[in-house]
Amino acid sequence: MAHVKKNDTVVVLAGSNIKERDSSGRIVLKRARVLKVKPREGKVLVEGMRIVKRHVRPNPRRGIAGGIVEREAYIDISNVMVVCPACTRPTRVRHEVGADGRKVRICKRCGGVIDK
Ligand SMILES: [Zn+2]
Repeated sequence: MAHVKKNDTVVVLAGSNIKERDSSGRIVLKRARVLKVKPREGKVLVEGMRIVKRHVRPNPRRGIAGGIVEREAYIDISNVMVVCPACTRPTRVRHEVGADGRKVRICKRCGGVIDK
């Protein structure tokens, strides 16, 4: 079971353009939403992170104009950390089986449950 799931809020730990200034002017890691997870390959797609330019060939029959398109590229899952909704900090997770038998992810910082 991967430590990251679709629609998680995450920070990216490696690469360029991973930081921003918060409202008080401090430099912090950008927080972004997970669009897609490929658990087998260990890759994730994160909204607005690791943008690459792709050259697209025009295809008039499909209404594709062609040119340069900016898209997210897959990031190694080990470079992504989940932001805990309870303590709002990036954290490592522990897997546990809940009372109802469902697997849940637990924040290693605050012990809060990450999965609702
Ligand atoms: Zn937490």
